[in-house]
Amino acid sequence: MQELELLRQIRQPWVQRSPQTLARAVNIREDLRNQLEQFFDRMEVSLETGTYSWMDPILSAWAEALPQSESPEMSSSLVDFIGDLLLFTVRVCEETLKPEYSVAITSGLLPIFLYCFRRAFEMEMEIRIRAISEQLQQVQQTLEKLDQSKSDFIAVAAHELKTPLTLVDGYAAMLRDALSTRNLSPYEIDLLNGIHNGTRRLKTIIDDMIDVSLIDNNLLSLNFQPVWINRILHVLENELQGVIKERQQTLTIQDFPGSGEMTFGDPERLLQVFRNVLTNAIKYTPDGGSISVDGRKLPGFIEVIIKDTGIGIDPEDQLLIFDKFARLGKTDLHSSSKTKFKGGGPGLGLHIAKGIVEAHGGAIWVESPGFDEKTCPGSTFHILLPLMTQPPDEKMARLLAPLTHKPAKKPLLGSRQP
Ligand code: ADP
Repeated sequence: MQELELLRQIRQPWVQRSPQTLARAVNIREDLRNQLEQFFDRMEVSLETGTYSWMDPILSAWAEALPQSESPEMSSSLVDFIGDLLLFTVRVCEETLKPEYSVAITSGLLPIFLYCFRRAFEMEMEIRIRAISEQLQQVQQTLEKLDQSKSDFIAVAAHELKTPLTLVDGYAAMLRDALSTRNLSPYEIDLLNGIHNGTRRLKTIIDDMIDVSLIDNNLLSLNFQPVWINRILHVLENELQGVIKERQQTLTIQDFPGSGEMTFGDPERLLQVFRNVLTNAIKYTPDGGSISVDGRKLPGFIEVIIKDTGIGIDPEDQLLIFDKFARLGKTDLHSSSKTKFKGGGPGLGLHIAKGIVEAHGGAIWVESPGFDEKTCPGSTFHILLPLMTQPPDEKMARLLAPLTHKPAKKPLLGSRQP
């Protein structure tokens, strides 16, 4: 007898008994009856045509519905449910047909069930992956919201702090002026200097906080002008001479290919980037250490390399330090100075440097064999900046055209004009 005929012979008991066997709860049974009939119909078509994808629609409907049915009466895994269906089908075949026919139809149906198992497994995996990625997305959104509120808080706090600080700074300046005619004792001069240094330090922190909120909200606007990297570096060389001497360090700045070429960038902001990286190099290098600045010209880019003989950075922290408020080690041991050995700041310097470099279309990263305060393996910061022949701003490009375009050669006397 043909397999299809045999299948039709078991249809009635199969359709009648399957809901009771596979779902014991009455309400589920009613729902399931139709679906099981559909499953049987599709088994018939699959057996007749040899195309098993006929099973897909009912399988995917079950794959979506089963995990949501919280009933203990039914298996919530589609793979388990297909297993129950296979056992039930084999039982019905054994009870309805002669043994040889039962074996024949069971082996005929086996490839269909194998196909169902494979598809059920794939569908369940897809659903699980979808659920996990939805959860991840939610976590991501929560983190983004948190980061945004942190950023909002920084912006508000910075602006709120700036007004009273400006007042303190102004009154301190007035006091200094008022006392300038008097002969102050060294103690009184120390007090005035203390106020001045404190307000200056606070101002830098507040300015950094404002910069962070500008960067995080994509509001950093650059004032593109002609810049020369070697000039920026030499300005800093002069600026840092005092601390370098105080810390008995050596700072060597090389003129390297490309460093004397004119490019476009925001000079103040680029100065800030190199200042942040160089003051860190000074800060995290023990007294007597050395810092060197070198670089190279690459096609379309200039790479500045700042190397120190300091405490180094562990590989797992080398990305982290560019996050805001990233400070490594025991922060309670940090002093508040910008250039004393290991004097920690609020952990904003590198985040700002990264924001500025990226706004220029560049990149910043660090390499270091690891952190070791005793052996001091050192760190090497790389700053990659695009070499621009024109400022990105059109108005500025027109204004600076005489600088960026070489004048056309005058025609030779006597040469023919077109
Ligand atoms: P901070 O205000 O703490 O210096 P930064 O953003 O400038 O903040 O730096 C973040 C952290 O990266 C620092 O706290 C320090 O742990 C590490 N770091 C930065 N530069 C160096 C360096 N040259 N050598 C060793 N560690 C460094």
